[in-house]
Amino acid sequence: MISFAEARSRILGKISPLPAESVRLTDLRDRVFAHPITCPFDVPQFDNSQVDGYALLASDQGPRRIVGESAAGAGTTPAVGSGEALRIFTGAPLPFGADAVIMQEDALVRDGLVTPGEPVASGQFIRRRGEEIESGTDFDLTGSLATPPLIGLAASFGLSEVSVFGRPKAAIVATGDELVRVGEPLGSGQIYASNPEALRSALESLGIEASIHLVCDDREATKAVLASALEASDIVITVGGVSVGDHDHIRPALASLGVEEVFWRVSIKPGKPFFFGTLGSKLIFGLPGNPVSALVTFHVLVRPALRKLLGLSVPEEDLTARLATRIERTDLRYEFLRATLVGGEVTPVSKQGSHMQTGLAFADALLHLPEGVGVFEEGASVTVTPIRWGL
Ligand code: AMP
Ligand code: MG
Repeated sequence: MISFAEARSRILGKISPLPAESVRLTDLRDRVFAHPITCPFDVPQFDNSQVDGYALLASDQGPRRIVGESAAGAGTTPAVGSGEALRIFTGAPLPFGADAVIMQEDALVRDGLVTPGEPVASGQFIRRRGEEIESGTDFDLTGSLATPPLIGLAASFGLSEVSVFGRPKAAIVATGDELVRVGEPLGSGQIYASNPEALRSALESLGIEASIHLVCDDREATKAVLASALEASDIVITVGGVSVGDHDHIRPALASLGVEEVFWRVSIKPGKPFFFGTLGSKLIFGLPGNPVSALVTFHVLVRPALRKLLGLSVPEEDLTARLATRIERTDLRYEFLRATLVGGEVTPVSKQGSHMQTGLAFADALLHLPEGVGVFEEGASVTVTPIRWGL
């Protein structure tokens, strides 16, 4: 059986970002830049005022005659000569002839004359053309999420569309004779299919749309559902039916459809039966059916893969935290405990069963227990993954 680190690197090794496409600024939610953006002009494009006040010549002395005004957006701006000043507002073009602006708060105004209350230095309160960005400068945003400031930057360059990485289509295939769709009545021995709902939400929070398919524990039915899911999607996430039970049909069904197994089974708890395979460029993740196993393996193995597929260039980092309580265990597999992380201190939650959804529901971190270690002392330094769902 392969290790957690090996599983993660084999998955990431099979993934490269999807081809780029051009998208309008209004549709950039959860998208990742695929190319640099270029500033087509100097920023600022013209010398302008940093404050509301008066534009004038620094070398003049005494009162200046106010000869007009320059407001932001004004197409033309009167010039000022010696002994003159122009009323000016923030962002308005600096009039020809002026070399300084004084703040309104420092100006003494009377009878159409303005007198600076403070000494005036040439260049003060002026934003110079090109002082921030020179025309033609490239900003390499490749691999960065389109955040509000980056969308604002693209808009300030006048770009109405930008190039972003494509998004995959996903299908979720949940297996089990016991599963009933939420909203329908439960029969004896049946449970609600909660995994597909949780996984759909997890995919949606990464900006990926997913269809849901339920299938009973039957080889041919499983094969048929998987065939149509593979046909319609770039990613298929199966959940349940991937272990060693007599009713686990996912692996043989995938094999009969030509899916190449990259690995099956990882030495982790929860999530041992995890499967990963490919069919051409399509990716198939087989998650165990226990709800906690499904979402934990999604978080630690599928999520990093999807972030890379979506084009994000920087992987998420784990944190180091202080263990709030002593832990002793006998199963020495690499383990992810559901935990809470407060002020750098991590505490496992009380319900740790891989079938116990409340344990995960009220956790905000996964506490890593590395393989081969049985005792972790209170105060020990441990690795934690903050649980995150969005990009
Ligand atoms: P399996 O991986 O199919 O052996 O399932 C392991 C456990 O997870 C069993 O107790 C199943 O009933 C349960 N399970 C499987 N699929 C789901 C699901 N979609 N929602 C909730 N529980 C599930
Ligand atoms: Mg099952």
